[in-house]
Amino acid sequence: MTRTVSASVRALAAGDFAHVADCFAKAGFSVSQPARGILQLVLPGQALRRKLLLSVGIHGDETAPIEILADLLERLRRAPHQLAVDLMLVVGNIAAIRQGKRFIDADLNRLFRAQRAERGDLQTAAESQRADEIMRSAAVFFGTGEAEKWHFDLHTAIRPSHYPTFAVVPDTGGSKQHLLGWLGRAGIEAAILGAPSAGTFSAYTATQFGAMSATVELGRTGELGRNDLNQFATAHAALDAFLVGGTPSPGGRLPIVFRVAQELVKRSDAFRMACDSATKNFTPMAPGMLIAEDGDTVYRVGPETEYVVFPNPDVRIGLRAGLMVVRCAR
Ligand code: ZN
Repeated sequence: MTRTVSASVRALAAGDFAHVADCFAKAGFSVSQPARGILQLVLPGQALRRKLLLSVGIHGDETAPIEILADLLERLRRAPHQLAVDLMLVVGNIAAIRQGKRFIDADLNRLFRAQRAERGDLQTAAESQRADEIMRSAAVFFGTGEAEKWHFDLHTAIRPSHYPTFAVVPDTGGSKQHLLGWLGRAGIEAAILGAPSAGTFSAYTATQFGAMSATVELGRTGELGRNDLNQFATAHAALDAFLVGGTPSPGGRLPIVFRVAQELVKRSDAFRMACDSATKNFTPMAPGMLIAEDGDTVYRVGPETEYVVFPNPDVRIGLRAGLMVVRCAR
């Protein structure tokens, strides 16, 4: 049975905010659309309102967050006065969404680097210019004022996981309890504290603007317009409560916390991995086990059990082919 994709989902997937921008402008918000698929809603004269950035579609084939955001936005559009934060929305890789692909030339979520030179030969990818637009807009949104800054980059996993919902939290130092508390409320079961070096959008906002940022993996995705949103109800409710309540209240069970033990970087075509892209996220590997080989470089599990996340031996040379994480002591 085919289901028609609702007009609001279709508009958001195309990065089109035309029908919502007006409603917020009439309600007194300062509304700007610095580029297609980017919307900023700021209530003038409220310097201490929290700033919340929600991004979806950074990977074009991850459709569920687009549907969740369309639903949240549709509700707010009818009652714009209820929006209790300054809000920036980003629909990331619009061209890839249109084609139902993860990306066109290169993974957009490796290109958020303040130093353009660090992008290497990816600088010429179609996604590079989009990363620039998004970074410029985020700098304007987050750049001024004393308000608390938050960023959730919403994704869905492309492979099964021992923890269906998890987050990657750029470890910029400082307490993450507030963030972990909200993630618990959103039903996120595990959180990985990682070195903020991977060129991800959440690492960029955390390091450049001191935002409480996380890449949030909400579960398995389906075709646009055909996702079972019940599967995402807890995260949806937590986002809704933040948007209209104005504060990221904690709740639920705190996620289990992991930290990155090692990053697997593919340095050459000789790169071989003991697991592949079909391996479940958080699959445990025993101490000393061989993880990968890359010419003379050998990656082995350290002295304690490590869990493999995002294994993908097919990435471009120079990029991350997987993360090994260990459980943090409580
Ligand atoms: Zn993703």
